[in-house]
Amino acid sequence: MFDILIKDCCLITMNKRNEIFDCCSVGITGGKISAVEKNLNGEAKKVIDGSGTIVLPGFVNCHTHVYQALIEGVGYDMHFNPWNIRYLVPIISRMRPDHAKVSAQLAALEMIKTGTTAFCDHWYLHTDFNNIEEVTGVFDSAGLRAHMVFGFLNESFAGRKHTSGSSGNVLKEDKELLVRAEDYCRRWHGKNLTQVGFGPGSTEDVGIDLFRGIIELGKRLDVSLVTHIAGWVEIVSRSLEKYQKRDLEYAHSLGFTGSKSIAIHGVWLSDDEIEIAAETGTAVAHNPVANMHLGYGIARVPEMLKAGVKVGLGTDGAASYTYDMLEVAKTAAMLQKVRNLDAEALTAETALRLLTTSGAEVLGLEKETGSVETGKQADLLIVDADTPHVLPGGRPVPKLVYSARGSDVRTSIVNGKIIMEDHKVLTLDEEKILNEANKAREELFTLGGDETRKLIEAPWPARGASWRSTDGALS
Ligand SMILES: [Zn+2]
Repeated sequence: MFDILIKDCCLITMNKRNEIFDCCSVGITGGKISAVEKNLNGEAKKVIDGSGTIVLPGFVNCHTHVYQALIEGVGYDMHFNPWNIRYLVPIISRMRPDHAKVSAQLAALEMIKTGTTAFCDHWYLHTDFNNIEEVTGVFDSAGLRAHMVFGFLNESFAGRKHTSGSSGNVLKEDKELLVRAEDYCRRWHGKNLTQVGFGPGSTEDVGIDLFRGIIELGKRLDVSLVTHIAGWVEIVSRSLEKYQKRDLEYAHSLGFTGSKSIAIHGVWLSDDEIEIAAETGTAVAHNPVANMHLGYGIARVPEMLKAGVKVGLGTDGAASYTYDMLEVAKTAAMLQKVRNLDAEALTAETALRLLTTSGAEVLGLEKETGSVETGKQADLLIVDADTPHVLPGGRPVPKLVYSARGSDVRTSIVNGKIIMEDHKVLTLDEEKILNEANKAREELFTLGGDETRKLIEAPWPARGASWRSTDGALS
């Protein structure tokens, strides 16, 4: 007796043999995939007709900042630092646990509706230490596999000190951060589908002593270490100036690298640093859409893959303007074709692997998820293929990566539990969340002060140097 039986679908397994089956059935029992066969018969508590659909593993988003879900569209088309200092901080430094909760709910809704089943969030916004508690609780009840990185900021946020005034609560003391992080980890790591990791906001956001303390704590508790590394070129210049080392070289010299470590972005990794990542098993979370939006540059993904670096895909925060991982995968492929003047530089098959099995490996979930095969946990998607933009056929993988959109995901199953069925999210109340998100957004914009309010209300805001200036920013 199966709990769920999906019949007659096109199945992209993403197993090691790269098998794709037409008209296949998938049986799920006790949260796991218990059978993958053609003409599978047997009793089931629930039977899903999979004809006209593609079934494949759930998508893994290796890097998010869900606190930014409420502020997409505030300060845009600009580099990270001025955006962060001038537009982000005045708003998010006022964030309370109720705002944090609804931002997570909003992000969870979008993730589920576009096929993400596992993700890694970097949460360093401890304006109140209950923020991360609320957020983790949201993902736990939404039924997603959450890898929550407890973030640290003690010297700067995006390279700028916020030590006094209304934004002073963004930075915290070393000891309090370390104690809170350990306490959070002991309560949440391994609870249901949640995992915990630690990491500075970025290498410039914490001093060397706290960075060492974070690494020591992460290794002692045997959890992941995650931080933004070599994402923007200025941080590499800063590392060279301050430590006479490039960004990953600096982190490596402190012991950050390893098989449980993730470098977010890695756009400006040198050949030697790619070698360090490969040799130490350090993974890279590649966020092509956000990297493009922020003008960071193009990460050398084919070179990383050739060197044996584990690479997964991520959205990053508001700068990507989406949680749709199919958009991210398509962008990842297209970007490398352009950069390398080579249409094979990153293929649809590779993009899909980054999105599933490789992403699972980056988050240390390769035993549980990433492929649809017997014995794995049942994390899978049912995607509508009987539509004008997906149907025209040929091979399913390029149609999925290049033509399908996240909104084509009809049903999502995580750990054997249906969390969205026929486009309706079952674990969250969409209408209520949208209402509350609107209210929370409005309140945060007001708390953000006059400049934020003017910016939101400007019908067609002026651009240029004044838009990007950090003068007058909170300090
Ligand atoms: Zn980020």
